[in-house]
Amino acid sequence: MWVGDDAAVIRVARDKMLFATDAIVENVDFDLAYASGADIGYRALAVNASDMAAMGGFPFHAVVTVGLRPDMELATFASVLDGLADAATEMRIAVVGGDISRASELWVSVAMTGATDGDPVLRTGARVGDAICVTGSLGGSAGGLFALQKEIRGRDHAIDEMIRRHLRPRPRIKEGLRLASLGATSMIDVSDGFALDLWRLLTASQVGCIVEPATIPRDPGLEELEMMVADSPAPLDLALAGGEDFELLFTIHRDRYQEAKMILGEIGCPVTAVGEVTPGEKRLGDTPLQGEDQGWDHLRGR
Ligand SMILES: [Mg+2]
Repeated sequence: MWVGDDAAVIRVARDKMLFATDAIVENVDFDLAYASGADIGYRALAVNASDMAAMGGFPFHAVVTVGLRPDMELATFASVLDGLADAATEMRIAVVGGDISRASELWVSVAMTGATDGDPVLRTGARVGDAICVTGSLGGSAGGLFALQKEIRGRDHAIDEMIRRHLRPRPRIKEGLRLASLGATSMIDVSDGFALDLWRLLTASQVGCIVEPATIPRDPGLEELEMMVADSPAPLDLALAGGEDFELLFTIHRDRYQEAKMILGEIGCPVTAVGEVTPGEKRLGDTPLQGEDQGWDHLRGR
């Protein structure tokens, strides 16, 4: 994976290419107390692939740079490479180059190209009257992190599945491609929390919404967690603000919602309509949808 020429030579077959980068950093995006090196390598590619999925595209090439602490064992680095290889195989990504650097924290930075079959789906295309929809369920990643912190692993299948979601998120690549061909008008991946990512999508499209909180699909493990741990956060709070679920939040003409639900259902992905695009305010139930001060903020930390 690391050997080759000074630069990768890649074939550009289409007139539009997607290009994105995202880094994950120790004690900001992950904690080695819970995540293995392999989980971290996997996650670094997965989060970038999710950004491709959010455009209705698929990942193509990646270059990866790893920052290693001087005190880190070689086995940890080997494990990061294993995780990168796992994700690359699963998501069909060609890792065409990379670098290693010395750092005060472990980090993995990925730059990725991607492509679409047709036009990419942007954040700016939501239209008044469109249905607002989300794939899968929300809050599972935050629930999984909470379960890891409370050391309740291996006791409940639904909770273990949330832990899996947290450590090894699966980007909705196939789903994004189908939604693009079905005519989704705008799309974003839920990386920083449903409420904040919805706010971003609507702000980019210069529209409002009415979203009913009760309709927001919550990870089934959250209910188990609530029963098992007395001080666990409310499922709805985790679903709204937890983040890192890497589900797709999209808008689509309301007449096409049922078709989208059916076609994604055929590949095992639930789709839920949670509201409607309006010309006015952004409303989540009775309250105005909050902007950048809600959810996960990279610069402030957790
Ligand atoms: Mg994104």
